[in-house]
Amino acid sequence: MSKDWNKRTKLVHEGIRRSQYGELAEALFLTQGFIYPSAEAAEARFVETGPDEFIYARYGNPTTRMFEDRMAAIEGTEDAFACASGMAAINGALSCLVKSGDHIVAARQMFGSCLHVLKILGGFGVEVTLIDGTDLDAWRAAMRPNTKVCFFESVSNPGLEVIDMKSVSDIAHAGGALVVVDNAFASPIFSRAVELGVDIVCYSTTKHIDGGGRVLGGVVCGSRAYIRGPLEMFVKHTGGAMSPFHAWVMLNGLQTLDLRVRAQAANAATVASAVAGHPKLARTIYPGLMDHPQHALAIEQMGAGGTMVAFDLKGGKEAAFRFLNALRIVSISNNLGDAKSIATHPATTTHKNLSQEERALIGITDGMVRMSLGIEDGADLVADVRAALDAA
Ligand SMILES: *Cc1c(COP(=O)(O)O)cnc(C)c1O
Repeated sequence: MSKDWNKRTKLVHEGIRRSQYGELAEALFLTQGFIYPSAEAAEARFVETGPDEFIYARYGNPTTRMFEDRMAAIEGTEDAFACASGMAAINGALSCLVKSGDHIVAARQMFGSCLHVLKILGGFGVEVTLIDGTDLDAWRAAMRPNTKVCFFESVSNPGLEVIDMKSVSDIAHAGGALVVVDNAFASPIFSRAVELGVDIVCYSTTKHIDGGGRVLGGVVCGSRAYIRGPLEMFVKHTGGAMSPFHAWVMLNGLQTLDLRVRAQAANAATVASAVAGHPKLARTIYPGLMDHPQHALAIEQMGAGGTMVAFDLKGGKEAAFRFLNALRIVSISNNLGDAKSIATHPATTTHKNLSQEERALIGITDGMVRMSLGIEDGADLVADVRAALDAA
């Protein structure tokens, strides 16, 4: 496909593989296996698999490959591998790079399951150092001769802290380490990760890319040598490949991704600025607001404030629950990046397994509500959030 197409064109056309029927829409090849014309052809395919050849859906499938090719094109990497979930992607991206005795530096502002993967690697003899990802001196100080990977969420869940991808990449590369980023909150629309020096970009495609809360998925984007080398080797043999049906859903999601994510970010900015300073709020956290500690960095890295807002309500859990229960348009759920607006109370749900101290360290208070703004009418959302705050 054309290299000079812009992202919005690639989101619709890139990576399409058409069958002999010339179908307009992306075809769903719901098949785990492929027939070889002869025994010799089967033997040859296991020696070298050509670009239009497949063996088994755990290794690859035409629908899944369309999704991978489209993701690589929009992220600006040479290749991509589609995984069963965001966690299968992150687990694969990290695990295939380290062995016992190696060292990972990671930001402690992180999604609970990502922390759990680091704990599992720790049990296998990988050393892990957790630091404050916004502190560049902490990254520098944590580097060791055996550091293989620096890992962080570019925008943290749920505190919305923004981590400096360019500076951390420079520090990692100077120490001979690779940079793996969980870019779920930024979405591919607000991603400049590759340009800023990140080596490996992971997404939970369950979020903005599906966009309708239907299926799980993940993807790892990186160099061809890494993706078709250690990453594919790890994921295809440990069973983390994406289902072709899910890849087909994700391809449809990508077609409208730019329109949805920009509308969501506009709603997030509208809601955050409309209710900031409300008497029930101790704090409104939104990277697009001037008072966010990394506002300038967020605008430089993403060009926008993103689709997520966090509110810290005065009055702790009780006030947060009253607020959640009073919302009429915004649903209480834990997906994000969805067309529907969704609110979550991290302290009692997604980050419940952390201790009070661990939560405090990453800025999760009992009054915090994380909100993913959808594509509904902005004025309706402002009215809903304002009314719920009044009721809190
Ligand atoms: C949801 C999420 C994940 C995990 O993705 P799944 O698709 O649920 O496995 C990882 N990182 C972040 C930041 C997420 O929001």
